[in-house]
Amino acid sequence: MGLLTKGSPLTWAETIQHIDYIKEHGIKQFINLYHRLKSRHGDQLKWGDEIEYTIIKFDHENKKVRVSCRAEELLNRLQAEEQMNAMLGTANKFLWRPEFGAYMIEGTPGMPYGGLIACFNIVEANMKLRREVVKKLLKKDETCLSISFPSLGVPGFTFPEVPADRNNADAANSIFWPEQAVFLGHPRFKNLTKNIKGRRGSKVAINVPIFKDKNTPNPYVEDLTAFGGPDDTRDAKPDHIYMDHMGFGMGCCCLQVTFQAVNVDEARWLYDQLTPITPILLALSAATPIFRGKLSNVDSRWDIISASVDDRTREERGLEPLKNSKWVIDKSRYDSTDCYIYPCSVGYNDIPLQYDEKIYQQLIDGNIDEPLAKHIAHMFIRDPHQVFRERIEQDDEKSSEHFETIQSSNWMNMRFKPPPPDAPEIGWRVEFRPTEVQLTDFENAAYCCFVVLLTRMIISFRLTYLMPISMVTENMKRAQQKDAVLSQKFLFRKGLAECKSAPENLKGSEKCGPPSQDIEEMSIDEIMNGKKNGFPGLISLIRQFLDSADVDVDTRCTISQYLNFISKRATGEISTLAHWTREFVQSHPAYNHDSDVNDTIVYDLMKKMDAISSGEDHCDKLLGCYRSKTDHAISAAVRKAEEHMIVSSQKRAH
Ligand code: ADP
Ligand code: MG
Ligand code: MG
Repeated sequence: MGLLTKGSPLTWAETIQHIDYIKEHGIKQFINLYHRLKSRHGDQLKWGDEIEYTIIKFDHENKKVRVSCRAEELLNRLQAEEQMNAMLGTANKFLWRPEFGAYMIEGTPGMPYGGLIACFNIVEANMKLRREVVKKLLKKDETCLSISFPSLGVPGFTFPEVPADRNNADAANSIFWPEQAVFLGHPRFKNLTKNIKGRRGSKVAINVPIFKDKNTPNPYVEDLTAFGGPDDTRDAKPDHIYMDHMGFGMGCCCLQVTFQAVNVDEARWLYDQLTPITPILLALSAATPIFRGKLSNVDSRWDIISASVDDRTREERGLEPLKNSKWVIDKSRYDSTDCYIYPCSVGYNDIPLQYDEKIYQQLIDGNIDEPLAKHIAHMFIRDPHQVFRERIEQDDEKSSEHFETIQSSNWMNMRFKPPPPDAPEIGWRVEFRPTEVQLTDFENAAYCCFVVLLTRMIISFRLTYLMPISMVTENMKRAQQKDAVLSQKFLFRKGLAECKSAPENLKGSEKCGPPSQDIEEMSIDEIMNGKKNGFPGLISLIRQFLDSADVDVDTRCTISQYLNFISKRATGEISTLAHWTREFVQSHPAYNHDSDVNDTIVYDLMKKMDAISSGEDHCDKLLGCYRSKTDHAISAAVRKAEEHMIVSSQKRAH
């Protein structure tokens, strides 16, 4: 969701004169925050998921589906519950926040989950309840699906129906996307759209390779004359699906997990260790093969979001010699991270980093160590798009708003989150961001629990997965290819390697050796399930970790179901949603094998997805056979064990 501050947002032209000031003070705020909280130690594991949902409206008579632009109205009602709870002093079961689309809502648990393994058993129940609560507010012909809607930008894709208006600068002059499809209840989203266009100097251009079916024209050149003139469609490429608005990317739904570390060192170390895992999870969660109603040749949203917020100038994109811009920048501000941040990982940082010497020096002078200073300075090559007139002057000792403005619009596969200045209960956190949202609560719970269990396993065994960071960039590309789980190999650490230089609280901190060259190409199956006489597999390692942990029977059963399910996705026995969707489309009688996914197919697809996600239909091919023991609460016996654990850890601390 990002930062939702209130105030009068500045246009791009108005922002320009404040950029240097915002950056200088953003850095000051980070330095202050860092030194105030760097010695914070002993935070427990807490974690939480963020799931984005699309509200959908069926037109049964005309066999058409649209996105229902009622998010603001629904959020008002969902958030009233939060206000009520605040007045009553009761805990929230969930929190609801706006997202980019006027048809999207984001749900998180009301409070982060705790560190006890039993918490893994309440995640899915919370997700189920979340969906039920939203559904209760919906109209008869509406539903709520955790998917990215396949027909975004198709004429009449919103309800109420509003045509796109290419002359409307507020809609970033899109030929497909009306302003009303953006969430207008907060200025952030419209403002970001306009300022990204302003900085870039043109509207964004997204070109996704089309899937060439037997009747798809070759070359595939879409006739866009009904949408706009040559100037409006100048950036459309042959053999691609063309899109021209931030909403095509940011209007897709994501699944993210944030977890808290014991201290800043552990957060930095985990950030690095999980970075090489991000492409693997992107491939394993692939769920988005259709864009603007056409079958594409990719299975995930990643590059589409990346291009949808690409605010680099032509010079920065390397299309013109540098004159007014400072650097050529290889990536959009939504892309994979360019550097590791834990001191001993720097040997693997092989991507040249651009940063402003002055900002870097400000960080070094502020006693920020080199790897972290480089990470922050590199993020600060991006300009702020969200500056509020009333909030330019700030107390840099108390606020971190200017820092957050830039940090929260560097949308990378991982995020290193410092504690907020005004929430003493929150520590140093790391966010895992690549995963595609899944259709069912079972799958979403499985992926979230997998990521958090992975952190526990990595910490417990102090394993290292580091490889040159350029290889992670390469793996991210491979991960988006059609059926990447089965068709691609990924660069990965060959054997099991223990990190000798893990943070002190993990009893490491020996001097680190030279970067390992022990890397080979492996299939997702080998990475997840293991390779004969080679890497044992992430799932087997998690199982080993669980064998040594104290886990109650129900939770162990639920976790087993999650791990079995993910293991089968890795072998291909269970399909990804992307694969399943392609099969659905290609076997639909209304499909002409020309890559076009028409209204009738989308209608049937949404009905089928709705039936599966509500549990009315079961789909073995997508989910396998499972029965999780998820529950709304942790049982009294397990709770007692938790109390016992806390008391003994407090005793140890004294
Ligand atoms: P973002 O900036 O990514 O939008 P949010 O504030 O929406 O982040 O929170 C993301 C997730 O972090 C939520 O699931 C929330 O429950 C969880 N969370 C909240 N507090 C903590 C904490 N102290 N440690 C770890 N996760 C937390
Ligand atoms: Mg959020
Ligand atoms: Mg998030």
